[in-house]
Amino acid sequence: MAYQQPSLPYAENALEPYVSARTIGFHYGKHHATYVTKFNEMVAGTPFADQSIEEVIKAVANDSSKSGIFNNGAQAWNHSFYWNCLSPDGGGKPSGALAEKIDQDFGSYDRFREELSNAAATQFGSGWAWLVLDNGTLKVVKTANAQTPITEGMTPILTVDVWEHAYYLDYQNRRPDYVASLIDNLLNWDFATKNFEAARA
Ligand code: FE
Repeated sequence: MAYQQPSLPYAENALEPYVSARTIGFHYGKHHATYVTKFNEMVAGTPFADQSIEEVIKAVANDSSKSGIFNNGAQAWNHSFYWNCLSPDGGGKPSGALAEKIDQDFGSYDRFREELSNAAATQFGSGWAWLVLDNGTLKVVKTANAQTPITEGMTPILTVDVWEHAYYLDYQNRRPDYVASLIDNLLNWDFATKNFEAARA
């Protein structure tokens, strides 16, 4: 069965003024939707059509003859994850076991915030900045284009999309302003906590 684009977990204007309804309209309604459509077209009629999107992404990650399936599938998955990483009630600092683990692995929330900001700012060109759990340790990593930590055995906890389509209408070339806005006002620590607890269960 085809991969379904998950519905947006809030209204298109819910993240204003930090991310505009216009950006979400294009980003969710056009960019993400197109990745999903193309992925489904490419796997239709192949054995991949019967596998989960995560299985397909992992299976084709190192096969250059299947880069179209990988790029569209990974972008479909990354964006489905990204929408949940944002919330109109987000921002601020994590709490509980996740906050303690951030202090343990980064030194402090401020050090974590700096690492995530740096990863997002220094990803050259299109890509993603992530908080992941890797072999029991929280880390910040960045990936280029459609690349995703799930092919590296890491568990994504949070992500920030740093493709220009994520911020250009609202922030033009000011990627660091977009990233700071997301971290301070929109990051969904409830979702991050769920991912963290699931990975440790
Ligand atoms: Fe995007």
